[in-house]
Amino acid sequence: MSSNIIFNSKLPNTGTSIFTIMSGLANEHKAINLSQGFPNFETSKRLMDLVSENMLKGNNQYAAMQGNLDLRNQIAKKIQSLYQKDIDPNTEITITAGATQALFTAINAFVEKGDEVIVIEPAYDSYIPSIELCGGIPVVYELEYPNYSIDWDKLASLFTEKTKMILINTPNNPAGKALKASDLSSLETILENRNTILLSDEVYEHLIFDGKIHESVLKYPNLYNKSLAVYSFGKTFHNTGWKIGYVVGPDYLMKEFRKVHQFNVFSVNTPIQAALATFLEDPNEYLGLPNFYQAKRDYFLALTHASKLEPIHCEGTYFQLFSYKNVSTKSDLDFAKQLTIENGVASIPISAFYSSKRDDKVLRFCFAKTDETLEKAGALICKL
Ligand code: PMP
Ligand code: GLN
Repeated sequence: MSSNIIFNSKLPNTGTSIFTIMSGLANEHKAINLSQGFPNFETSKRLMDLVSENMLKGNNQYAAMQGNLDLRNQIAKKIQSLYQKDIDPNTEITITAGATQALFTAINAFVEKGDEVIVIEPAYDSYIPSIELCGGIPVVYELEYPNYSIDWDKLASLFTEKTKMILINTPNNPAGKALKASDLSSLETILENRNTILLSDEVYEHLIFDGKIHESVLKYPNLYNKSLAVYSFGKTFHNTGWKIGYVVGPDYLMKEFRKVHQFNVFSVNTPIQAALATFLEDPNEYLGLPNFYQAKRDYFLALTHASKLEPIHCEGTYFQLFSYKNVSTKSDLDFAKQLTIENGVASIPISAFYSSKRDDKVLRFCFAKTDETLEKAGALICKL
């Protein structure tokens, strides 16, 4: 028998993602799954019809490497109306296979061995492995429970000559906090005269509540010229399994992004792109999202009001954090597992979003669920 190949793992510290673990545990124990972030209601029937119409009419071969032009035109219109920014659809937008690929490609296009990348945690779990795969060094800034706000002077002290990139995510998964205009101005000042790319994860741009306005980097000309902003149709149109998103940035950065993109995925699913181009013609398809998800957040809060868990105010995203310090002293991972196995509700422990595994006894619950699911989960949570 031949012996196994000997190799050095490029990601020695990476195991199965917490989302896969908790969704798996929820399925195994038939728990209500409020862990992994995905809706349990359908995407628009009209959008599904548009996808199948496009398939049936033969829109099934490779799309353009940059993405379907009609779709890029619609995205440019959407950006103009939301953020008053003129974007050239030919040179400043690329359609990607979801936001995770856009982030991975952006990091791999620019980060070289030994470059430092500032990551603000708690953070989506793909950032750090993507940085490590290209030899970059993650430099972590930890947001603290319960406010999860950024002290910009402290953050500024992390910059060095080697800081090639900084990642921000607003509204933030999992903290549910949204950056304010003053945050973006502080960032603008810090990045002035620095050779640092801003990678802005804005997948929850439409999931922002209580009349707050999403502060996109696209609104700040000084930031835009050094930024790539990343979006996900999966989040916007309730179809996370379709894995389509896009990236926006100035042409000189986009040119470099596309060099990697074309050998990473080359191009993205043709019929879905064509369907999204038609679907985006009606802005009402996304303008109603803040109210839709705010109502879900408020319903979930009302349903859990009588429980011992303490909610942390959610300004955006479809995640609600709760502190369980009045219920248990267990680690958040152990408590999340116990809640799934013994109480029938799955969540995500927040320590999973910190590389230090910082444990503030906080769990994340996804409220992108039908009212019926939220009611069942609420009743179980109230019994704790
Ligand atoms: N960024 C953040 C902050 C996310 O929460 C997610 C997914 N939940 C993504 C990126 C990835 O989006 P996609 O599914 O389009 O890859
Ligand atoms: N981003 C989603 C979440 O935060 C999960 C995506 C994934 O499973 N990779 O739950």
